[in-house]
Amino acid sequence: MINMKILQNRDSFLKTQVLIIGGGVTGTGLARDLGLRGISSILVEKQDINAGASGGNHGLLHSGARYAASDSEAAAECREEGELLKKLAPQCIEDTGGLFVAVKGDNENYTADFPGMCEKSGIKADFIDIAEVLEMEPLLSPDIIAAYQVSDASIDPFMLSLDNISHARDLGAVLMRYTKLESFNIENKKIKTALVRNTVTGQETIIEPEQVVSAAGAWAGIVAGLAGIKLDLVCSMGTLLVTQSRLAKKVINRLRKASDADILVPGGTVSILGTTSVRIDDPDKCRPTIPETDYIIEQGAAMIPALETTQYIRAYSGVRPLTGSSSGDDRNVSRGFALIDHAKDRVENLTTISGGKLTTFRLMAEKTADLICRKMGISKTCTTRTVPLPGSKEGRWTAPGLAPRMWMTGHKSDDIILCECEMVSKGIIDNIIKSCRQQGEVPTLKTVGIRSRIGKGPCQGGFCSARIAAHMYDREEFSGKKGLNELREFLNERWRGKHPVLWGLPLEQAELQEALHCGFFGLEL
Ligand SMILES: Cc1cc2nc3c(=O)[nH]c(=O)nc-3n(C[C@H](O)[C@H](O)[C@H](O)COP(=O)(O)OP(=O)(O)OC[C@H]3O[C@@H](n4cnc5c(N)ncnc54)[C@H](O)[C@@H]3O)c2cc1C
Repeated sequence: MINMKILQNRDSFLKTQVLIIGGGVTGTGLARDLGLRGISSILVEKQDINAGASGGNHGLLHSGARYAASDSEAAAECREEGELLKKLAPQCIEDTGGLFVAVKGDNENYTADFPGMCEKSGIKADFIDIAEVLEMEPLLSPDIIAAYQVSDASIDPFMLSLDNISHARDLGAVLMRYTKLESFNIENKKIKTALVRNTVTGQETIIEPEQVVSAAGAWAGIVAGLAGIKLDLVCSMGTLLVTQSRLAKKVINRLRKASDADILVPGGTVSILGTTSVRIDDPDKCRPTIPETDYIIEQGAAMIPALETTQYIRAYSGVRPLTGSSSGDDRNVSRGFALIDHAKDRVENLTTISGGKLTTFRLMAEKTADLICRKMGISKTCTTRTVPLPGSKEGRWTAPGLAPRMWMTGHKSDDIILCECEMVSKGIIDNIIKSCRQQGEVPTLKTVGIRSRIGKGPCQGGFCSARIAAHMYDREEFSGKKGLNELREFLNERWRGKHPVLWGLPLEQAELQEALHCGFFGLEL
């Protein structure tokens, strides 16, 4: 067992059975899987939970139908894992169901072959009458020519990762946020130690692991490079847009060969439209652009014309690591996952788990933990297939609609609302601060943002961020210029996503907000 006090000392030295790099859904799922097998782990994440693709995706729990034509193995994995997650982690899932719809001009052969292709991967796709589908989803285009019903759902990726890491910690795992893997010391074909650095304080820690797993997503190539290994990995950026209101009850997919802006996923009070697939060299340089936003809207409007006139709250991007390069369309690169034992590269205790889907994270963690057990000579089997994922205090407030529901069903008279768009109260912020402190962590505005709905509504933090910063000064979490610096950082991050979707009235409102921030707080954003 690792003493948390050690983590606060400068230049600490830690030992663990498994060092995991990356706090996305794969890394957090792996820490839980290992914990359930009684294996200790330290997870280092250079930012906060879900800083990579796990926080920049569609939130679609795939039925597998999307991959039925291109990759029947990935399609079957999605089907099986989607069904399991609905049973094991229901708190993270809204079981919306899904539709695949073709519009005039779409390939009719593809449409006719679709149910047969789904069947090959065991996926149920039921034909549905056009009149019925238009009644079900009135905003669909009247130009729909065919529709099928599938078992897609929407999933909250933040709750999923926070619940996984919370359970892993209960089982003895250690999470080191804002801690970046800097280098490996390799001796006799093994990583003997890893040097990690806290990106806020600069504190260095040496970790001596028996095994190292890179679950670093699109950064897996960089991590492998630190061990002198070249990975064949393509970084593909996808951009998504969040609508101000929910436009559909079900997930709506375009019934055609996977292409851009094909999917609208409802989640709580909003819908998410996307995505694109653009190759980039540096995963740290992913951000949505105005031309991309316009293109997504134009493509999506063929399925749902209202997408051309609706208001958007923000845009965001994520990067997929696709293993196995391709010279053409990156959508042709497999969306399955790659588990690489780097013993073949003469680094015996390094493993990379990369690619795959949010939907298949549990399976990816299972296969990785199985390999780690084999390498360590441990005969413990996986239990995540049957043990439900417990809900956690950390993940609870990410659910859209929960804060207003709790508020309406009863609140203390002095519990005022700090974020009006999402109705997040002072009491909820205090809960999050308390739970961070209990975990030995320093709460920041960003930490509160990841663990709640603040900054996610139409004002994008324009008003609530200042109120919450002020509340954190009252609670003595901030002093001096700390709160102002955090406010600037928080608003700048929201601005990245807001500016590509601004026109008309929201643009005027954004200009007013900027003037308020500059005038009242002296912030130059
Ligand atoms: C645009 C888009 C849409 C998607 N939509 C869906 C969807 O709807 N459904 C679905 O099932 N899947 C979807 N996916 C895929 C899914 O998001 C990913 O498969 C999944 O999130 C990958 O999780 P991960 O933990 O492997 O990687 P990531 O979430 O990228 O995590 C890697 C982590 O490693 C950290 N890291 C990197 N280097 C270091 C270092 N040196 N030290 C410490 N930490 C480090 C990063 O900060 C990051 O947090 C989508 C992906 C994209 C990009």
